[in-house]
Amino acid sequence: MRIDLHTHSNRSDGTESPADLVKRAHTEGIDVLGLTDHDTTEGWDEAVDVAERTGMRLVRGIELSCTFAGYGVHLLAYLPDPTYPPLGDELRRVLDGRNSRLPATLERLRALDIDIDVHDVRRVAGETAAMGRPHVADALVALGVVRDRNEAFDTYLGSQGPAYVHRYAADLEDMIGTVAAAGGVTVLAHPWASRHNHSALDADGIAWLRDVGLAGLEVDHEDHAPAVRAALRRLARDLDLVVTGSSDHHGVGKVDHELGCNTTAPEELERLLDLAARAAAASGRSAAPGVVGA
Ligand code: AMP
Ligand code: FE
Ligand code: FE
Ligand code: ZN
Repeated sequence: MRIDLHTHSNRSDGTESPADLVKRAHTEGIDVLGLTDHDTTEGWDEAVDVAERTGMRLVRGIELSCTFAGYGVHLLAYLPDPTYPPLGDELRRVLDGRNSRLPATLERLRALDIDIDVHDVRRVAGETAAMGRPHVADALVALGVVRDRNEAFDTYLGSQGPAYVHRYAADLEDMIGTVAAAGGVTVLAHPWASRHNHSALDADGIAWLRDVGLAGLEVDHEDHAPAVRAALRRLARDLDLVVTGSSDHHGVGKVDHELGCNTTAPEELERLLDLAARAAAASGRSAAPGVVGA
């Protein structure tokens, strides 16, 4: 049983359409796929369509841009009702922040003598609903300024880089509550990835998040070293949190994050879905989606 609960399509910063992503996951022997584009559910319908036709089990999700104690934190939400107004309102605020950051980022790049405009980025960004730094990176590649996304982040766009611009993100605690009220469950994405500075989110912080409704921790992720995974697994056991593992696949947009490179144990998925079913019942949101193909 191969369960991969965290992937991106070109509706955010992955490089494949939702349809192609589901098809490929199916041919590559993934049994359960989570589609978790950043801050949008735009890819859901297309993915559901292909999943139904191929017999793929699909878990609809979102990777939400949140903030905790001044740090950026990614929160995976599974099976929330996307029509729940407070969730939609918050997603719109985050997407507005993404859009308004773009001109500011390009301004920074122009100050570095890199001549790039919004059209250059929109062209490579294609069908995205969640404009982001990876699309600026792709435009820089297309202009021949850098070789790949990695170099773009290392040289310009990373949080310490000269073209970095802050953007709005949702309050983490509020978002955990909003997803629960929408009938979904939440899992902290790559909580201790080295790329993020999560010193604020230590064991005590995670215990507190559990108390406000967090369901799980993404333990097995490429950006976690073996010792980090071991520590997070212990913490999850102590706090009775669900343990997930996933690829965080972005198509060709991120190296070493191939589909199924990390997976979730079937019994952990079962626990997560059980919690989602309870959240859906408690929320009274009849539009909270179930797992496709289950
Ligand atoms: P943004 O959402 O615009 O703040 O950009 C953050 C996104 O950039 C994350 O979702 C990552 O997937 C992606 N990202 C961060 N660092 C890198 C990198 N070095 N190479 C490729 N993608 C990256
Ligand atoms: Fe991403
Ligand atoms: Fe992430
Ligand atoms: Zn991700």
